[in-house]
Amino acid sequence: MTLRGGIDLGGTKIQTVVVDDENAVLGQARRPTPTTGGPPDVAAAMVAAMGEAAEQAGVKTADLVRVGVGSPGGIDAHAGTVTGAGNLPGWQETFALGPALEDELETPVALGNDVQVATDAEARLGAGRDHSSILGVFWGTGVGGGIVLDGTPWLGLGGAGEIGHVVVELGGRRCPCGRHGCMEAYAGRAALERHARELHDKGEKTELFKIARKRDSDRLRSGIWAAALERGDPLAVKLIKKAVEALGAGVASVSNVLDVELIVLGGGLGVRLGQPYADRIAAAMLPHLFHDYRPPPVKVAELGDLGGAIGASLLCA
Ligand SMILES: [Zn+2]
Repeated sequence: MTLRGGIDLGGTKIQTVVVDDENAVLGQARRPTPTTGGPPDVAAAMVAAMGEAAEQAGVKTADLVRVGVGSPGGIDAHAGTVTGAGNLPGWQETFALGPALEDELETPVALGNDVQVATDAEARLGAGRDHSSILGVFWGTGVGGGIVLDGTPWLGLGGAGEIGHVVVELGGRRCPCGRHGCMEAYAGRAALERHARELHDKGEKTELFKIARKRDSDRLRSGIWAAALERGDPLAVKLIKKAVEALGAGVASVSNVLDVELIVLGGGLGVRLGQPYADRIAAAMLPHLFHDYRPPPVKVAELGDLGGAIGASLLCA
């Protein structure tokens, strides 16, 4: 039996797994992503989290046949470098993450894009396993996308799948990417939070920030949005309605180009809000679908929080 490691490097957490030949998870660990320092500090936290998962599986990291890493930012898989991972501390320049991890883990490391590896995991083991062409839409802090066509990940020149920056309104709201009218400017959690704060400051009533304070959170995490929606909080309902409309337009536009068999909805908000919201996005897509007589189904990702790390482990399978 050979064991593989997988590391999902996110803006808020580092999730690791150890899996066997059947992709069964034998060990897992989670650590917060460092918010200060720089890439070497992030790498050290990744090494610690991988070590913890390996220990749980009863092995050393050197016993793992390989470790795959799903990372944000620009990935050069050949050189093992990550460039401009904006959500990570001090990570604007290029950092040789692969070699740094290999030294400490004492095993080969493969790098991939975080959203793409999560999409691969869903395509091979999750919601998309009965389909050969899928589009993954990861609705979280931002809105990421991954593409699998005829069973093969489509990476473009390395930057494919940036579905969050499909334009849904010319000259529209400013996106965290600095451009205007992107889908993410209406649907990404970071943008939603900024918008909610603006409207709250202007006097619109909302429980969102009260719920956040009660939960000791300075961010409007997915669970806080879900709680506000359950209470029928008017501002949360209004902003999420607009987010669903933006997702409908953006995902339908990409679907018109790719004509995939299935849309898989993942990400913090996507998984938390679940199938009822996947259904709402499917309904919001309909007016924009060219072939509207056979709309693609929209299903929630099945691998949940571990999808990114399991997908990363597949980089070496
Ligand atoms: Zn954008």
